[in-house]
Amino acid sequence: LSNAISEVAKNIGGRQKMTEKSIANALKDVRRALLDADVNLGVADTLIEGVKNRSIGQEVTKGVTADQQFIKAMYDELLDMMGGDSTVKNTGTMSNVPAATLAVGKAEEPAVILLAGLQGAGKTTAAGKLALYLKEREVDYDAVEAMGEEEASKLLTSRMPTRNRKVLLAAADVYRPAAISQLEILGETVGVDVFSMGTEADPVDIARKAVEKAKAEGYDTVLVDTAGRQVIDEDLMDELKRVKEEVQPQETLLVVDAMTGQEAASLTAAFDNAVGITGAVLTKMDGDSRGGAAVSVRGVSGKPIKFVGTGEKTPDLEPFYPDRMASRILGMGDVVSLVEKAAAEVSDADAEAMQKKMLEQKFDFEDFLKQSELVSKMGNFAGVAKMLPGIGGQLDNSKIREVEARLKRSKAMIQSMTKKERENPDLFITDKSARSRVLRITRGSGNSFENGINFISEFQKMRTMMSRMQKQMGGMPDGVGPN
Ligand code: GDP
Ligand code: MG
Repeated sequence: LSNAISEVAKNIGGRQKMTEKSIANALKDVRRALLDADVNLGVADTLIEGVKNRSIGQEVTKGVTADQQFIKAMYDELLDMMGGDSTVKNTGTMSNVPAATLAVGKAEEPAVILLAGLQGAGKTTAAGKLALYLKEREVDYDAVEAMGEEEASKLLTSRMPTRNRKVLLAAADVYRPAAISQLEILGETVGVDVFSMGTEADPVDIARKAVEKAKAEGYDTVLVDTAGRQVIDEDLMDELKRVKEEVQPQETLLVVDAMTGQEAASLTAAFDNAVGITGAVLTKMDGDSRGGAAVSVRGVSGKPIKFVGTGEKTPDLEPFYPDRMASRILGMGDVVSLVEKAAAEVSDADAEAMQKKMLEQKFDFEDFLKQSELVSKMGNFAGVAKMLPGIGGQLDNSKIREVEARLKRSKAMIQSMTKKERENPDLFITDKSARSRVLRITRGSGNSFENGINFISEFQKMRTMMSRMQKQMGGMPDGVGPN
């Protein structure tokens, strides 16, 4: 989907104003790309209509080309389509807020999260992943909110305060004997207790007893893994309804397989109609490159995607961030939003100078520092990091910490450079004393020589890439690009 849309956008070119006619073909192609990506038909049409309304008659903003602006319109529509619900707490200082946070249970009562879905969707795996997430990684937005704007805006993702729940897993899939041991193994892996009553018990009793145990022993969250069937059937729905009635979960999450494309969306709607759900966990996102499920679920069912599974291992779970997903779907969208954010922060003159430097491959270490500072000014690092040429690419959540560390190292090395070196990155490559220069800046900053070499070569790659990108963005046929 990503490639298709950026190709389409290219054909719009660099006109001053978008008209119905100038975008008609583009919209037709985008619609086809959406359907190819297995986006639900109704959702695709809503998206197209929205992009049309946002684009037609719009003046093309200075410094941005028409194709970029078209992509931005597409991005905004995707965001609306996948975006959050009222449970989202936006502190206003962070650009990266998940679509929906989990409903928090009353302090004196354990919160109950019920997992439902078809067999093989990834429920049991998701139970283990969620247990780990709630135990170690769930951001405590209340604490962030209590902090006040300034302190909160300094937070990096890795330093966000966490809630650290005490979780109890309940094994309520009694139909497959292996399901219980699968959950027990997962529980052991993530260090969370598992409650089971064997395969003879009624799932309703299991869930109730698990909650009683949680109350008695001070667990604050109970995750109930339930049985699935091949297809939706009345028995399954009935059992779910009974469990739900009994334990009154704060969250009933439908676990759906992203590989099923728009099927995932209609399944979510069906489950919601039958038992009432609060949101979806979209699994196997690592195997789905098309994005049809992610785009369609909320549009079809009205329920938000709360988490995505990105692999088979227990840490492979992330909150669903509509903005990141929209960027990922659009690919090029990253560039546009960076341009957009940058424009708000940098004066026009600065931006022009920077673009010119990028274009001529004169971007130097001083500029790198300036850009990094800009990044921290823009707020949440995670959201911006992946937009940065050279750093971005396939950056996922688990890599962000690593990138942060790398950026810190890089800054330290730059700070150990002389002014002349900062302004002449080539001194570290072609100069006869390049090697000793690298040695000096690495020693001076407590880095290994290898770190130094890597940084220099990454920086060089980034320069080339920036230049190439600027040429693509700037070299529009009628000369409307960044000016
Ligand atoms: P359940 O029947 O709904 O409980 O499904 P399971 O949790 O047993 O998972 C079924 C299969 O899907 C297992 O082989 C899991 O390893 C795999 N699986 C679950 N989630 C993911 C995911 O996010 N990515 C990938 N690649 N595989 C997953
Ligand atoms: Mg299972």
